[in-house]
Amino acid sequence: MADLALAVDIGGTKMAAGLVSQDGSLTRRAMLPTRVSPDPEIGTSGPGPAVAPAGAVVDPGTADPGDLLWRDLAGLVQRVLAGVGAGDRVVVCGAGCGGPMSPGGDEVSPLNIGAWRSFPLRERLAELTGVPVFVDNDAKALALGEGWVGAAAGCDNYIAMVVSTGVGGGIVLDGRLLQGRLGNAGHIGHVIVEPAGRECRCGARGCLEAEASGTALAAITGQPARLAPAVVVERAGTLVGRAIASVVNLLDLSLAVVSGSVALGFGDPFFGAAQAEMDRLCRLEFARGARVVPGGLGDRGPLVGAARVGWRGAGMGA
Ligand SMILES: [Zn+2]
Repeated sequence: MADLALAVDIGGTKMAAGLVSQDGSLTRRAMLPTRVSPDPEIGTSGPGPAVAPAGAVVDPGTADPGDLLWRDLAGLVQRVLAGVGAGDRVVVCGAGCGGPMSPGGDEVSPLNIGAWRSFPLRERLAELTGVPVFVDNDAKALALGEGWVGAAAGCDNYIAMVVSTGVGGGIVLDGRLLQGRLGNAGHIGHVIVEPAGRECRCGARGCLEAEASGTALAAITGQPARLAPAVVVERAGTLVGRAIASVVNLLDLSLAVVSGSVALGFGDPFFGAAQAEMDRLCRLEFARGARVVPGGLGDRGPLVGAARVGWRGAGMGA
């Protein structure tokens, strides 16, 4: 008999749910592409995925896009819950979701999911599952997961980042996850890396997300980020390293853990360029030697991190 956390990860490309034990093992999972709806902020002609879930019942004439998306997620969660083994039980739910959101995730408005604005995610999940629900930004969740059983285990001062469709991050300082006034600390995607650079969705110019996210690279090269030529991969790595260096210098960190399909897909050339830029810019005695490494949890990271949000919120687990 084991107590389990239901982990939920909600991103602009896909939604996932899984079961995670108190020692961080992911024992079951399922995923679904995120239903794309007209998005007034990023338009429908952008490079993002436009995939409807196979077999989904869509009645666009009557249903609100936000409700359709919730129905997808609820079905996914129920599918995972149906797989809970005899004698095991789910005692808490942790969710990671794209930001921004109100403190505690009572209302989420993910930039990448136009159908959800002030969506009451925590309440809906609580009604669905009947267990306590804790919601946090997906990148902060990943930071918790990497520090729990991933590449930052044992480290008390680090940043964990996601470089995928967008760029996000979470920072652990003195062993504590930074929150900030509204819980948005760690948004490294909006650190400026090119002062006269590309316009960002946030309204500023030259943000890391506007220069090195999968969306940005696709816009720059005219092809999917995974096909980016070497010079573009190297530049993306350099800019990520530049942003990390500023944070390392500011906060006295020793480690940056970078995950996300774009970063992990680029691999060594990307990480080499990021480390070289950090070595060039982290020159103060305390900052010298700061390292950037790939995330240790691979594609399990988002769900393991979401589970950690749940366990931690409930005061259970390691
Ligand atoms: Zn920005």
